[in-house]
Amino acid sequence: MSKKSKVQITCPYCQNNMMITKWDSINVDLNPEEKERIINGKFFDFNCDYCNKVIHGFYSCLYHDMTHHFMMYLVGGNQEAKEAITMFNDICCLHEKIYEDYQVRITTESDVWREKATIFNSGYDDRVIEIIKFLYTVQIEDDYDDLKIERAYFCPSENVREFVLEFHCSDNNAFTIDVSNEIYESVNEKYMSKIRTSKIETFFVNSDWAWNIIKAD
Ligand SMILES: [Zn+2]
Repeated sequence: MSKKSKVQITCPYCQNNMMITKWDSINVDLNPEEKERIINGKFFDFNCDYCNKVIHGFYSCLYHDMTHHFMMYLVGGNQEAKEAITMFNDICCLHEKIYEDYQVRITTESDVWREKATIFNSGYDDRVIEIIKFLYTVQIEDDYDDLKIERAYFCPSENVREFVLEFHCSDNNAFTIDVSNEIYESVNEKYMSKIRTSKIETFFVNSDWAWNIIKAD
């Protein structure tokens, strides 16, 4: 189920007040148009009714993709993240049968929220993608001594047989690498049983999580 309400915001440019639609939760199978806006990075953009400038907003929102069995809560900070953990534990406990094969994530970053929505929408698993990002980062930093990678993002490719990783470096440069589905499958095969049997919690799947999985016995 999707849940939305109208809230008032103040334009930071012209100080006028206006009403916007705020989604507390989005079931993207029921609201595919909102999924497109999330994936395109337009979801938190609002056009001011008065000065027409684009306002970049941010609020807590639960993303639910029933097709790919994926839920992700974008929260405002650590306290909300703790509440989200309790909420997910309660839901998954109450409805164990429905959610037993669900992937459930929490993040405080709208970039990560959007990225993971894109990963699952493209039919991939973010746990495998995070391990691939980690392995590439280590390899590239090893090959290029003075290069430091800060972040890596998944991007879908027009070619269905591959996807793109976008690496952002500490010197503000960025570059991309095309990754074939063969590489994805080989990493999936190598790590998935380890991932499934691991006790490392999966609410926050990021590079630290990937490193913990790789180094685990
Ligand atoms: Zn305005």
